[in-house]
Amino acid sequence: MASPIRRLMKDLRHLRGAHRELTKDRRELKEDRRELKQDRRRLERQRDAFEDARKELKGDRKDLSHLRDARRARLAQVDERRQALEAAYDATIDPLTGQGDPALATQLEALGARRQKLVDSFDARLDGKQQEIAGGVAGLARGRERLEDTRREVRQDKREVRGDRREIARDKERVKDVRRRALDHLRPAEYRMGLRQTNRARRALGLDPVDHVIRPGRRVVGYVNGSPRPIRVVSVGNGEALRADAARAYKKMVKAAHRAGVSLSAVSGFRSMAEQRRLYQLYLSGQGNLAAPPGYSNHQGGVAVDLGGVGGYGTRAFAWLSANAGRFGFRNTVSGEYWHWTYGVSG
Ligand SMILES: [Zn+2]
Repeated sequence: MASPIRRLMKDLRHLRGAHRELTKDRRELKEDRRELKQDRRRLERQRDAFEDARKELKGDRKDLSHLRDARRARLAQVDERRQALEAAYDATIDPLTGQGDPALATQLEALGARRQKLVDSFDARLDGKQQEIAGGVAGLARGRERLEDTRREVRQDKREVRGDRREIARDKERVKDVRRRALDHLRPAEYRMGLRQTNRARRALGLDPVDHVIRPGRRVVGYVNGSPRPIRVVSVGNGEALRADAARAYKKMVKAAHRAGVSLSAVSGFRSMAEQRRLYQLYLSGQGNLAAPPGYSNHQGGVAVDLGGVGGYGTRAFAWLSANAGRFGFRNTVSGEYWHWTYGVSG
C-alpha cells in the first residue's frame, strides 16, 4: 500500500495530465469548428456562383432561340421581296429574245447577294452563341463537381467536430474521476504533509486554502456554543471532515440519496477556529456568506455540513432531503440556507 502522500501526488499528476488533455482537445475543437465555418462559407459562395452560371446559360439559350426567330423572319421578308421582283421581271420578258428588263435583273442579283450576306451574318452569330452555350454547360458540370467536393468536406468537418466533442466529454469525465479520487486521498495525506503542501494540493484541486490541518480520526478542538471541547473527526470525502458519529450518519445518507438518484457532496464540514474566524471576517466585510461568530457555528462542532448538489428549495434533491434526512439524524437548521444540514439537533 503506497503512502497516502505518494497516492495523492500521483492523483495530482494524473489530474494535471487530464487537464492538459482537455485543453488540447478544446483547442482542436476550436480549430475544427473554424474549418467547418470556412468550408460552409465556401460552399455558399460556390452555390451562388453555380446559380449565376445556370441563370446565364438560360439567358444564352433564350438568346439563341430569339436569334433563330429573327433569322427566319428576315429571310422570309427577303424571299417575299424576291418573289415579287421575279414576278415583275417575268412580266417584262420579250418572247423573241427571252430577256426581261435588265434593271430588274440587276435588282434581283443585288437582292440575292444581300440574302447571302444576311445568312452569313446570322450563321456567324448563331455559331458564337452555340459555343457560349457549350462553354456554359461544361462550366456547370465543373461547378457541380466542385459543389459535391465541398459538400463532402463539410460533412467530414462535421464528423470531426462531433468526434472532438465526444473526446472532450470523455476528458471531462476523466478529470472528474481523477479529482474525486484525489479528494478521497486528500484528508489522509494532508496532516502528514503539513500546511504548505496541503494548500498547494488544495489549490490544484480548486479548493479553498485552510489555515489548520485536520488530523483525520484524531482529536481536534471543536467548539459548541462558544466552549471548546475535544472531538474526533473523520473524512467524508471532497476534502471535508465531520465528527465521527455525524460522518457515519452522513455517509449512510449520501448512499441512500445516491440510490434515489440524488447526488450529494460535502462542500463545507468541520471548521477550525481559524477557519471560522476567517469566514466571519469575510461576512463582516460584506464579502462572504452569513457566518456565525467564531466559536458558535455548528460547523465548529463537526456536526454541520453544507451540501453540494441540492440546488435550491424547489429541487428534487431538497424534497428528498426533507423527506429522508431526518432518518439519518440531519435537519435543515438555518432558514434561507437550503444547503446547511446539522446532525443530532432536536427540533
Ligand atoms: Zn453551513
